[in-house]
Amino acid sequence: MKQTYLVDKNGYYGEFGGAYVPEILQAPLNAIKEQYLDIIESEEFQREYMELLRDYVGRPSPLYRAARMSRRYGCELYLKREDLNHTGAHKINNTVGQILLARKMGKRRVIAETGAGQHGVATATVCALMDMPCLIYMGAADMERQRLNVERMKMLGAEVRAVHSGNDTLSNAVDEAIRDWCQHPDETFYIIGSAVGPHPYPDMVARLQSIISKEIKEQLQEKIGRNHPDYLVACVGGGSNAAGTIYHYIDDDRVKIVLAEAGGKGADSGHTAATINVGRVGILHGSRTLVMQTPDGQVMEAESISAGLDYPGVGPMYANLAARNRATVFSINDDEAVRAAYELTRTEGIIPALESAHAVAALGKMELKPTDVVVLTVSGRGDKDVETYLANKAMAGEYGNF
Ligand SMILES: *Cc1c(COP(=O)(O)O)cnc(C)c1O
Repeated sequence: MKQTYLVDKNGYYGEFGGAYVPEILQAPLNAIKEQYLDIIESEEFQREYMELLRDYVGRPSPLYRAARMSRRYGCELYLKREDLNHTGAHKINNTVGQILLARKMGKRRVIAETGAGQHGVATATVCALMDMPCLIYMGAADMERQRLNVERMKMLGAEVRAVHSGNDTLSNAVDEAIRDWCQHPDETFYIIGSAVGPHPYPDMVARLQSIISKEIKEQLQEKIGRNHPDYLVACVGGGSNAAGTIYHYIDDDRVKIVLAEAGGKGADSGHTAATINVGRVGILHGSRTLVMQTPDGQVMEAESISAGLDYPGVGPMYANLAARNRATVFSINDDEAVRAAYELTRTEGIIPALESAHAVAALGKMELKPTDVVVLTVSGRGDKDVETYLANKAMAGEYGNF
């Protein structure tokens, strides 16, 4: 049998994945596990989901040939424009799918966690659309840093609950959301925002994001007469935009996978979110995966200029892709990401999200030849990051003189 890098029937990617949850969550998790494939693959779900993706999210997102960046890097570069989606990033693909699933499973209440607030906004958006009560857990420090997204969520009708524990950021918000789910397992649907968490979440999120690579296939066929690139490039926080980008190519070894994780101040600096580079095997948020840990096994605080990549774990799929050398993983430092954001802005007129800028910076670390077709996913737009970009002009090199 040909080997696959997708999930196996027990919920594992090689030795990674699984579902390590408290007893009380086993029943609601099993209910999702037993129903998600049937529901997602049903004609009715697909009709509603595809209609919302088209008319509400604005899909298909364009595949744009970036001519000036192509010349600069000596390749044929195409950008998959998830930044043009409703709410400004890829996260809405997943929340639209999970809210439909929640409704079909008869759930009456939605909870979610958020770091930078992007997943919170995408969740509050679909809850407004579907008239579902929505509670978002968010670290108190993140609420402070991301005031605008907090106000957007409230305007959309969600309750945003501040989490005061640990370093008051994403990882603590996830803990709190899981605690809530344990208290209200029957009526609650927990919409997880990345390809992380206990099985079947990583697979479910990957499937709901796989529309990205489905479109890439069709768009490449139309533009270059073949449906696969030589390289796919994406940034990885938990791994949902990357999962969508690689999903339909993951077992196609003609296609090389390049991932960019957040190096922060440097993978070896102790101020980093480069989990694949420096993490060790552990269990985080219900999944066996790579986790940044102190020598005595405590979860380390992640540090990155980009809130969306600021997570001490990574989806189990990536722990396996890295272990089996299916993907090349670059650690991109804060200054490299900021510089790449300015470069894309000045070269193509596209201000990317800080997260996406990490993927752009990976181009400079690849050995490319002129015939190589590279598809890079721009996971989100940079409006939310303009203040950070301005505050860090000094990292932008020649682009910072304005
Ligand atoms: C949340 C976010 C990410 C990181 O999450 P993944 O699950 O790894 O995709 C990347 N880019 C943007 C724009 C985001 O909002």
